Parts: sequence; C-alpha cells; structure tokens
Amino acid sequence: MPQRIIHYADDTIDRAAMRREDRTWLDERLRAGTTRFVAVASGRHPIVDTDSGLRRPCYLRANDLEGSLPGEPILLGMREDVAYFAADVTDAPPSFPAGTTLRKLRDVITDLGHTDSAILAYANALVHWHRTHRFCGACGKCTTSVRGGHVRRCAGAACRREHFPRTDPAVITLVVDGGRCLLARRRDWAPGRRSTVAGFVEPGETLEHTVAREVFEEVGVRVGEVRYRGSQPWPFPQSLMLGFRATAESADITVDGDEIAEADWYTPERIRADTASGALILPPFDSISRRLVNDWLAEGG
Ligand SMILES: [Zn+2]
Repeated sequence: MPQRIIHYADDTIDRAAMRREDRTWLDERLRAGTTRFVAVASGRHPIVDTDSGLRRPCYLRANDLEGSLPGEPILLGMREDVAYFAADVTDAPPSFPAGTTLRKLRDVITDLGHTDSAILAYANALVHWHRTHRFCGACGKCTTSVRGGHVRRCAGAACRREHFPRTDPAVITLVVDGGRCLLARRRDWAPGRRSTVAGFVEPGETLEHTVAREVFEEVGVRVGEVRYRGSQPWPFPQSLMLGFRATAESADITVDGDEIAEADWYTPERIRADTASGALILPPFDSISRRLVNDWLAEGG
C-alpha cells in the first residue's frame, strides 16, 4: 500500500516506553511547564475554535488542573521535547478557557492537524481502557495503574495479576470480482451509504480465516486469495483495523439480513456515477475502508 497519512496514527510520537517505570522522571515531566495534558471527558476533548475558522485541541497545563495532577499519570509520550499525558476529567472537569467546547474527535477530524488527532485518539483509547479495567478480571479486586499508565496491576495480595491495554483486531475487506468490487450497507445506515465488509477476529482464527468467514456470513460470497493492505488504529474505543483485498470465487450475493441490509457489485464507472448522483455515499475519508476503495479505483478497478 502506498505511503500516506493514516488517520489517528503518528509514529513521530515517542512513546518513551523505557521511561515509564522511572517515577522521578515521570514526576518531573508531570510538573514541567511545557507538559501538555490531553483531557478526556466521556470520550470528548476540549476543542478551541480559532479565528481562522479551524480548530485545535485545548491542551491543559499542570496549573490548569488546579494542582490536582492525575493520581494515576497516563504517559502518552514525548514529541519535540514536550511530554504528553492523558487526563481523565470525566468526573471532575476543570474550567476550560472561553471558546472551548467538548467534542468527539471524529466530529472535528477534518479541522485538526494529523499529529493532534493521533494524540487525542491515543489518549481516548488509554483513558477508556483505564475506566473499564478498574477491577481485576481474575479475582475482582481493585487494580492500580503502574508503569506510566500502561499496566494495571491487581491489588489482591494473592493475585497481583498485570493487565495490559486492549486492542481488538478487526478485519476490513474489499472483495473484488474482475472489474467489480462489493460494497454493502449495514441495516442501520442511511439508504445510500455503502462500505466494505468488516468484522472482529475470533479466538483461534487467522486473519485470513476471519476475512473468509465474515464475507461469507454477511454477503454469502466465497473468497480465495486474501491480501493484506495495511492497518489503522480505530480507538473508538479500542479496535485495530486490518485492511485486506480478497478475490471473490463466487458472485451471487445473499445478505445476512441482520447486520447487512443490502450489497451489490460496483464497477469504477458505477461508483463515479452513483457518487455524483448522490445514490452512493462512500465510507468516510478518515477510514481505512475508504482507503481500500480509493486504492482499488486508483489502480483502475
Ligand atoms: Zn486479581
């Protein structure tokens, strides 16, 4: 897959994994005047509308948190000598500067810079994980955050199990048949909206098995060759999308009627005509699904 911007990911963020157990360094970074805190409140972030009509995240400083620095620091990492921490302010939101509103990241993605959106996505994923893993899944005792917020350890003396942030793998597949590709509409989507086929990986499956199973379950098409096309974090709240292109070995479509309401084969010409007329709404620009379709179109279908 050609190199390009992958939304919600930025490898210029140094995750500083080797410093996560250095409590002195963490405390220094927490108090540093340059350090930025990424506030998360019920999956929303403080966003500032600028005079130019664009938007930017409202990063908080230690002072903005009114001296009450997070009890459990969640270190995101370093970028250009600036430390970034996530701060869950859901239960006690601080006062934000005038002109700031709490917004979901995907609602403002078109107006944010690439690195800012990746940092907010990363923060959102870790805060969600902390909020949903306060108790040990093995013994039920409380867990506490350690290693800069990248591990939660059970407080039970007989347990002490360590829990790690979850990322759930999901496949997303463009099925092609000669010069056509398959696009499907989920039952809860607007009439014209179509996308590729997606589903979560189940225990004991290879990714290729998941692709073949999901495509057959949802649209009744058998696939042969399955080729990996790239990945994208999808931390809403905790998925990793793994993109594939699969070659159809059967053409008849039978939708499951549960998840998928309708599906059809599309030539590049039909995609262009139907998007122009409004009959087809392609997947959102920030998704790997759109990238899979665009790549196929760029190759001539
Ligand atoms: Zn436990």
